[in-house]
Amino acid sequence: MRHETPTAGPVAARVAALNARYRNHAAIAVLRRAISDPEVGRVALVSSFGAESVVLLHMISVIDRATPVLFIDTQMLFAETLAYQTEVAASLGLSDVRTIRARPEALAAHDPDRLLHKTDTDACCALRKTEPLERALAPFDAWITGRKRFQGQTRSRLDFFENEGDQRIKVNPLAHWRPDDVQEYMVNNRLPRHPLVARGYPSIGCAPCTSRVAPGEDPRAGRWRGQDKDECGIHFVDGKMVRGPLPPTPSATDRNEEHQMNVIVTDTGFAADDLSGAFQPADTPGATALDLGPEADVTALAGRLDGVEIIRIAFPAFSDGRGFTLARRLRMMGYGGRLRAAGHVIADQYAMARRTGFDEVEISADLARRQPWEQWQARADWRAHDYQARLRGAG
Ligand code: SF4
Repeated sequence: MRHETPTAGPVAARVAALNARYRNHAAIAVLRRAISDPEVGRVALVSSFGAESVVLLHMISVIDRATPVLFIDTQMLFAETLAYQTEVAASLGLSDVRTIRARPEALAAHDPDRLLHKTDTDACCALRKTEPLERALAPFDAWITGRKRFQGQTRSRLDFFENEGDQRIKVNPLAHWRPDDVQEYMVNNRLPRHPLVARGYPSIGCAPCTSRVAPGEDPRAGRWRGQDKDECGIHFVDGKMVRGPLPPTPSATDRNEEHQMNVIVTDTGFAADDLSGAFQPADTPGATALDLGPEADVTALAGRLDGVEIIRIAFPAFSDGRGFTLARRLRMMGYGGRLRAAGHVIADQYAMARRTGFDEVEISADLARRQPWEQWQARADWRAHDYQARLRGAG
């Protein structure tokens, strides 16, 4: 029976306990326990109804077919995926499949011509996948994914339970499965196959961003082919932060432990928050610094940006990429001042922040302690995207 009451206690502690408790369990047992263990809480399965999704969907149908299933319809999916989703949900008797889509006003504002994927796949994924999912997950304490260790280096240390930004638990029952396990399960249970698999698509995402894979290629080679991108952002793993505090740099120690103030990530390391007192509401005339939330309408700022020295854009969640879109749009409007990302941004997102036009990132003292400057520096070839250098004609 699903557990319906919210759980208490820090996510990191619950994740550690769950991993210890279920370390030696098989996938179906992990899933069964995840659905009923009070330390997991309210849980949903997030499914793309892609090439291998039917495995978890089948397990859910056996354990409790009323488990909520969140299906993200990016409105860029293959027609075959939509037909397969309907067929699988019906044949397995899943009774709570929720189709998640981007808000129409967000699509109208950020991708009115449906071409954003051609110029900025990260922004497109943030708009069509990450933000809708974040909204859909709001009532849940945990979500189940089909990720597996064999699927690439970024997933090679995947645990059954992960801490997602100290907010939610991510459950990966198939973490230890090999490709043969997946195939065997589908054959043994006579599960329907996604029709595109037989046509050369072993991994299936949106139609514009998925191509056929040649024999011998990595199964995910057809996703965002030719781009430096292999995750849509939904599975962004900040989790390795929870292995424990890392040794802080002297500057981080000084700033975090003595003053407990936010710190700024810049190209030369952590720096003082020299403009923290200068921010004013975005609708304050004559402001030299602006604070924007993720919902801000940047078109309303056209003609009002002269003299604005810095704009700070809030990231309310690790998986919320709307701030990247705002930065990109401000740069496209010609804004040449400083852009600062503030809030839930972590080292893995630094390259993305630079690429979309940010100059700096403002993070909490606690995060700076856990992610010393060296981690930020190691993450990104940010100089390839140094917007300010390009402005100066140096890049
Ligand atoms: S996979 Fe492609 S089309 Fe789908 S949301 Fe991401 S960038 Fe957009």
